[in-house]
Amino acid sequence: MTLLEYKLPEAGLAGSYINGAWHWPDDGRTLTVENPSRREPICEVGRGTGDEIDIAVGAARAALPAWRALAASERGGLLSELGRRLEENAEEVARILAAESGNAIKTQARGEAMGATGVLKYYGGVAVEQKGETLPLGPDLFSYSTREPHGVVGSIIPWNSPLQLGCVKISMALATGNCLVLKPAEDAPLAILKLAELADGLFPPGVLNVVTGLGGEAGAALASHPGVDKVSFTGSSEVGKLIGHATADRIAKLTLELGGKSPTIVFPDAIENGRLDSTAQQVANAMRFARQGQSCTAGSRLFVHKDIWDVLMPKVAEKSAALRVGDALDPDVDMGAVINSERYGEIRAFVAEAEAQGASFLIGETPVEDPSGFSPNPTIITGVDNAWRIAREEVFGPVMVAIPFETEAEAIDMANDTHYGLAAFLFTHDVSRISRLTRAIDAGWIQVNQGGGQIPGMSYGGTKQSGTGSEYSIEGALEAYTYRKCITINIKEGA
Ligand code: NAD
Repeated sequence: MTLLEYKLPEAGLAGSYINGAWHWPDDGRTLTVENPSRREPICEVGRGTGDEIDIAVGAARAALPAWRALAASERGGLLSELGRRLEENAEEVARILAAESGNAIKTQARGEAMGATGVLKYYGGVAVEQKGETLPLGPDLFSYSTREPHGVVGSIIPWNSPLQLGCVKISMALATGNCLVLKPAEDAPLAILKLAELADGLFPPGVLNVVTGLGGEAGAALASHPGVDKVSFTGSSEVGKLIGHATADRIAKLTLELGGKSPTIVFPDAIENGRLDSTAQQVANAMRFARQGQSCTAGSRLFVHKDIWDVLMPKVAEKSAALRVGDALDPDVDMGAVINSERYGEIRAFVAEAEAQGASFLIGETPVEDPSGFSPNPTIITGVDNAWRIAREEVFGPVMVAIPFETEAEAIDMANDTHYGLAAFLFTHDVSRISRLTRAIDAGWIQVNQGGGQIPGMSYGGTKQSGTGSEYSIEGALEAYTYRKCITINIKEGA
């Protein structure tokens, strides 16, 4: 078997990208990016700190007046062009993504590279929709509103879907006339740096800046920087709360896209009329096993009606266990590696604790202690109480808990018994039930009879401790990245 190899980026690519140029920290400090499938270093990137953030925010502020004054169609045109460049380089970018994130090239990384081009092109097209309103105040007053950019945006993203999320942040900020300083995750900054390389020379210097570094250093400095008018953060709820504190004093605008522990609920009619196979597949898809469960929207708590438990569960197990686990760059592998040893250890601890509490494994096992690559198998755990830690906290690994229920009310209670409210998946074809449950369940995004991913154009965001604000749509971008300015002109003759 020949693996596709990803080579080290060209010299200079791994610095930060600030004011249209590559930049290394003065003290020369670096961070090592590793390939989690192989547990080997890929490359070194600059360990930016508050100093780099300061320079980048200054560059963004300087670029702001001209950028916001540009016609929205021109800003959109540049985003579309970046989407085109990304599409042309999609295979290389997919290999970078697979190497740094552990997401399999076959099932995930290629899809993410193409999905990210879709995001850039979507915002490139809808940028012109930054419209205002006029008010019917009579013939003597001309009153209208415009949508103004907040100014300089600081965005911080995680490692699990870095390119897609980076493109969402870039597109929303730039389309609406803001300038951006983006801090990618220390574990997976390379696809974003490649994107910055593709964008080189496209936007005026200072409009798009990328600073690599640690969360507690570069990330914290960005969130608390007085020159940052808006922070858009995607990551864990724990860090989201820190970001909230960091922005509160200066009342910076804030969007938080945080964690989840999303329920999947399956009713008996979902397997009738030959639907057993497809429902089982969609349940496995909703769990994002092919992403090692490293998805904020993973349907990681499966509630199955007791009447179909014995039929559905073996099928879900069969579909999930059929995934081929291995090196993310192997073109035949379906499911790659979790991001790093810390995450792997936490997943192991979650599963070991549930095993000690008396849970059973339908498939999978407690991951081995010292693996050669961080690739645990898909794991489905039964005999779990909804109050156990494994059913309440985000494992962020390929681990689903499955719990039977008897009544609709019981399913709703268990689904809502969580501090998260990001996504939910319902499997039933009863329209009345769909209507009742979609109203009753606390989640920002509910899918019925499918377990798919986000699509540009849908407003997506969480409730409860899963976040505030929404992204992925022009409506979300207008709400989150602009403010309404109202102008009232007295046009009465002689006034
Ligand atoms: P994380 O919160 O540890 O890190 C996310 C980012 O924040 C990284 O860039 C990190 O460097 C930075 N960071 C860490 N500490 C910081 C601090 N004190 N100040 C400023 N920045 C800091 O999350 P993670 O482990 O990288 O990602 C996984 C989490 O992200 C999961 O909880 C997942 O559910 C969530 N997530 C949510 C969405 C969504 O759309 N809701 C999407 C993807 C991931």
